[in-house]
Amino acid sequence: MNTNKSKEIFEEAKKSIPGGVNSPVRAFQSVKKDYPIFIESAKGSKLFDEDGNEYIDMIGSWGPMILGHNYPEVLEVVKSEMEKGTSFGLPTKKEVVLAELVKECFPAIEKIRLTTSGTEATMAAVRLSRAFTKKNKILKFEGCYHGHSDSLLVKAGSGLLTFEHQDSNGITEAVTRDTITAPFGDFEKIKKIIEDEKDIACVIVEPIPANMGVIETSKEFLEFLREITRKKNTVLIFDEVITGFRISLGGACEVFGIQPDLVTLGKIIGGGYPVGAFGGKKEIMDLISPVGNVYHAGTLSGNPVSVAAGIKTISILKENPEIYKTLEKRTKELVSKIENLIQKYEIPATVNYVNSLFTIFFAKDKIENLEDAIDTSDEMFAIYFDTMLENGIIVPPSKYEAHFISYVHSDEDYEKFYFALEKAFEKIKNSL
Ligand code: PMP
Repeated sequence: MNTNKSKEIFEEAKKSIPGGVNSPVRAFQSVKKDYPIFIESAKGSKLFDEDGNEYIDMIGSWGPMILGHNYPEVLEVVKSEMEKGTSFGLPTKKEVVLAELVKECFPAIEKIRLTTSGTEATMAAVRLSRAFTKKNKILKFEGCYHGHSDSLLVKAGSGLLTFEHQDSNGITEAVTRDTITAPFGDFEKIKKIIEDEKDIACVIVEPIPANMGVIETSKEFLEFLREITRKKNTVLIFDEVITGFRISLGGACEVFGIQPDLVTLGKIIGGGYPVGAFGGKKEIMDLISPVGNVYHAGTLSGNPVSVAAGIKTISILKENPEIYKTLEKRTKELVSKIENLIQKYEIPATVNYVNSLFTIFFAKDKIENLEDAIDTSDEMFAIYFDTMLENGIIVPPSKYEAHFISYVHSDEDYEKFYFALEKAFEKIKNSL
C-alpha cells in the first residue's frame, strides 16, 4: 500500500504542529509507526487517505459515528442548518429540542447544559459537585479518562496511558492532591477511601471504561458506588461521553438501571460535530449561572449545526430500536469469530465487549482493570495493528482503546476484517 503522501504531509505537519497531530493518539507513535495516515474523506464505514487508499474504519471518530460517516439524513439536516447560519451567540429553539430528547432517554437528567467537548462537560460537572457538596476532593479510577481538565489528568487512560505518562506536567501539586484515585472495581479500597476521607465532593466513573481498553463492568460495582456515595453526600457522576447513546439509548444508566446524580455526554449527541453535555438533578444543575453562581459558558456551546446533527442522530436511533439490537448481534458474532481464531492460532488473547464496543487484549486471562491492561503485549498489538492496516482495516492505534462498530458496517466489511485478522494472528503465532 502506497502511503507516501501521508508521509510527506507528516513531515510538513511536524514543522507547525507539535508531534504533527492535534490529539496525541493520532500520531501512531505508540504502534511504532514512522507516520500516521492522513485522512482525506470518509463515507459510511470507510475512510479514504490522501494517497487514495480505502480503509474499513474501526475507530468511528472514537465513538460518534454510530450511523457511519455522513449518514444521508444527518448530512441533509446539517447542510440545511448551515444555510441558516452557523453560530449566533444567542439561544435557539433547537437547543431546547435536544435537551428534551436527551432527558427522555436519561431519566437521571432533569436539567442539562450543552458544551463544545466532553472535556468541558466533565470539568463543569466536577466544579458543580464541589459547589453542591461544599467539599473539595474528587475520586476517580485508574485508567478512566475524563478529558483533559487539570483535576482529571491524574492516573488517566487513553492517550496518557498510551504514552506511559498517566499524569500531565503543568498541573499544580495542590490540584493533583485533591484528586484521589483507586483501582477500578476494587470494592475494599474504594470503601476505605470514601469512609476515611470526609472531603470527597464527587466520584466520577466511566460506567463501562473504554479508555484502558473496554472493561466489562459488573452491575454490583456500580450499585456499590451508588449506595456509598448516597450515604456520604457525595455526588456520583457517570461519564457517559462514550457509552451514552452507544450501548443503548439511555447508556449505562439504562443498561444497569442506576441513576447517578450527574451524567456527562458527548460524541453521539452531536452526530459527529463538536459537542458535549452535562446534566442531572435539578437541585444541582440550578446552581449554574445565571440561576446560581457556578460559572459555565461557551461561545460555541449548543452550536446550531452540532445540535441539528445531534437531534437527527438521536431521533434516528430512537425511532429505530433495531439499530442497537443489530449492533449487539453483529458485535457478538464478531467477537465469537475472533475468539475462534484466537483458539485456532493459539494466540494468548482475550476480547472484552459491550454492545458495539470491543477490545482485543493480547494476554491470556480476562482483563478487569488497568493493571491487567498494562500487562498485555505491546509487541503483539503492534503486529496486529500493522497487519490490519496493510490489509485495509484501520483499528485503534493503541492497545488501550476500543474498536467502534457502526450500523453501516457491511457483511463484506466483516469478511475483510476476518481475512486481515487471520493474517495478523498467523504473524503473531510465528513471532511466539
Ligand atoms: N470522557 C470520556 C469517557 C471520553 O472517552 C472522552 C474522550 N474520548 C472525554 C471524556 C473527553 O471528551 P473530548 O475529547 O470531547 O473532550
